[in-house]
Amino acid sequence: MANSAQNVPLLDVNRDNLPYRDEFIDALTGVVDSGRFLFGPDVVELENEVAAYSEVDNAIGCASGSDALLLALMALNIGPGDEVIVPSFTFFASVSCITRLGATPVFVDIRPDTFNMDAEKIEAAITSKTKAIIPVYLFGQCAEIDRICQIACSHDVAVVEDAAQAIGAAYHSRPAGSWGAVGCFSFYPTKNLGGMGDGGMLTAQDPATADRLRLFAGHGMRPRYYHKVVGINSRLDTFQAAVLRVKLRHLPEAVESRQTIASRYSRWFTEAGLANDDQMVLPYQDPASFHVWNQYALRIPGGRRDDLRSHLSENNVGSEIYYPIPVHKQECYRDLNFDDSSLVETNRACAEVLNLPIFPGLTESEQRRVVDTVVKFYAAKSRMVA
Ligand SMILES: *Cc1c(COP(=O)(O)O)cnc(C)c1O
Repeated sequence: MANSAQNVPLLDVNRDNLPYRDEFIDALTGVVDSGRFLFGPDVVELENEVAAYSEVDNAIGCASGSDALLLALMALNIGPGDEVIVPSFTFFASVSCITRLGATPVFVDIRPDTFNMDAEKIEAAITSKTKAIIPVYLFGQCAEIDRICQIACSHDVAVVEDAAQAIGAAYHSRPAGSWGAVGCFSFYPTKNLGGMGDGGMLTAQDPATADRLRLFAGHGMRPRYYHKVVGINSRLDTFQAAVLRVKLRHLPEAVESRQTIASRYSRWFTEAGLANDDQMVLPYQDPASFHVWNQYALRIPGGRRDDLRSHLSENNVGSEIYYPIPVHKQECYRDLNFDDSSLVETNRACAEVLNLPIFPGLTESEQRRVVDTVVKFYAAKSRMVA
């Protein structure tokens, strides 16, 4: 309790939002006065702005990132008997969209450096039943999407990008969401473009695909009260769109601020002599990728991750483990009986990953406190060993 004044939170969304408070109030007042709480003009404008930002022709608002993934697979006609290739080191929604449609997830291991799906391991997982690949852009960094698209194309398989954590990221200068048949974004408050509630967006270059996504997001209804397919009700409401338009205008600054924080962590841990294979492995940035740092993910080897996390918590420094259990080991997927002998890096990442505070507005002195607290942990450890 004595330290509570120096509490360093894992995330403080208010610091991100407060500078734009007046802009939010203006935008929200406009929605209140318009009375158009669904399908308001802000929704269309946001769709156009996200499409331009992601360099695609079409963007479709929906209720969440999870719905975006589900709608992508629905629009691609994925169902029972189909297989979808996906990493297991991800948030649950990357996989639940597959099983909710009765299709089968086929897990491919990740690269130990980027934590993203290993492109070189995809080919071996492709069968005659494979219909799609879902690369996840974990922590704000694209997977090797050029290679993944090549492999998918040569097998006539669709790519659905799970870019929930990676709006604004790019690979070889081409934006996340512009590579696959469909791109999926989330506006959950902790994401880089975070709303004040739930929200999501789909991107698609092909107009026919975009049309199907919109059809499925609107109960498959066209025209009114005539249903062509069994879709779902998944809408982005006008209040969220109004908030998100304000935040999208400031997104480049927010990304820059995340990049500054990330490079400062890496510099300070290196200067402290901790960046080595025994103590911590710093996040790796693929030279082809423009990383937007939704998370700063360390790897803490040697079974010391949980001790370090307790030490941070005792010192009022926030941290998190994304993710402690791979999706294939979740209780609800016991029946899949997935043989995980190929998922060595996935299982190891769950035991070693540790995420530190990173958000626009995190101060340099707070970051210093995070690093000093980590340094103290290792100093105490080495005294105990000596
Ligand atoms: C957040 C997230 C989702 C789901 O987004 P919601 O908007 O919370 O439904 C899907 N995939 C990944 C990788 C995520 O991080």
